[in-house]
Amino acid sequence: MIEKQHLINRFVSYVTVDTESDPESNTTPSSAKQWDLANALVEELKQIGLQDVTIDENAYIMATLPSNVDYETPVIGFISHFDTTPDFTGANVKPQIIENYDGKDIVLNEAENIILSPDDFDDLLLYKGQTLITTDGTTLLGADDKAGIAEIISAMEYLVNHPELKHGTIKVGFTPDEEIGRGAHKFDVDKFGADWAYTMDGSQIGELEYENFNAAGAVVTIKGKIVHPGYAKGKMINSMYIATDFINSLPRMETPEHTEDRQGFFHLYSINGEVDGTKLQYIIRDHDRGHFEARKEMIQKLAEELNEQYEKELISVEIKDQYFNMREKVEPVMHIVDIAEEAMKMANIIPLIKPIRGGTDGSQLSFMGLPCPNIFAGGHNFHGRFEYVPVESMLKAIEVIVNIAQLVGKKK
Ligand SMILES: [Zn+2]
Repeated sequence: MIEKQHLINRFVSYVTVDTESDPESNTTPSSAKQWDLANALVEELKQIGLQDVTIDENAYIMATLPSNVDYETPVIGFISHFDTTPDFTGANVKPQIIENYDGKDIVLNEAENIILSPDDFDDLLLYKGQTLITTDGTTLLGADDKAGIAEIISAMEYLVNHPELKHGTIKVGFTPDEEIGRGAHKFDVDKFGADWAYTMDGSQIGELEYENFNAAGAVVTIKGKIVHPGYAKGKMINSMYIATDFINSLPRMETPEHTEDRQGFFHLYSINGEVDGTKLQYIIRDHDRGHFEARKEMIQKLAEELNEQYEKELISVEIKDQYFNMREKVEPVMHIVDIAEEAMKMANIIPLIKPIRGGTDGSQLSFMGLPCPNIFAGGHNFHGRFEYVPVESMLKAIEVIVNIAQLVGKKK
């Protein structure tokens, strides 16, 4: 397979370029610095020998590895994103390479006493004896999702250099702004031209995902009436008390801190209140579409009930759908998941198939007509200073991509 040091060098060359996305910006990419890595990736894709390498005005990159067989095969794609989350700084990343990890504490930063410990993150123990890439404790790493990019490019390079491995047409897509929920927004599915694709954007080795939440946001606005407190009897309406009623009427155990697996929730993430008016902001999540719709209805009904109780239109609710569970788009083409599973087993990886408690670009792409399960990229502890990636997991991800290419390229 690809040489380990070559992969490390490639990955390090990506994470040392700051590509933090910016939710406040309306441009695409949301931050100009994303162009720095995007332009370098275009050059690299050309240099390893891919065809039709393009970057559009929004920094979406596409490239093609042409088929090397003389019969028809499905066209498949591999996708990842080059931005990093605005949740934690991605500037001046100084990766540390820990060879032959001994299973003990890793001092990320001696001066600031920042330690990556298996006491806090027991996943580390899975990787004893392996090579870990960590941060220096002051930034995130950016394995999410530059690991995915390094894996896809390395797999393509490997296939270019090994023409004896037979495969159909393979498309590569790299996007900006995934971390602010816009990675799929300007993705040209028609131009990409694949029958299906995989995002290489999961975490632990073996992860394979084709279910994610149905998601909506709800803004609850409660009107009050401010009157001088000394003369308020029968006149003042304190919106904050009504807000408290509202909050307490939703099921207290159906919240993020009390749910797991396929259990949905209401998540109150912001309260802004004065006597005169209070705004509550919720996100609503559920894997099951029916339950999801019922949750949205529950919020509407509760508002109506309270309005009746106060005999005034004090409460208004605005609900916006955000994304949907890709399962309904993937299940009709379930062989695309089976192929990924088989590709993992060929690489001696135990597939971990589980529902994502979140969204993914793959879900948006699936609803745009490109079914798109998600495969591990290998990293852990995304979006913070404790992020790390085992190089061996990245090598396995490359193997999975190469195996998928060969499975899909087989003569039927
Ligand atoms: Zn990601």
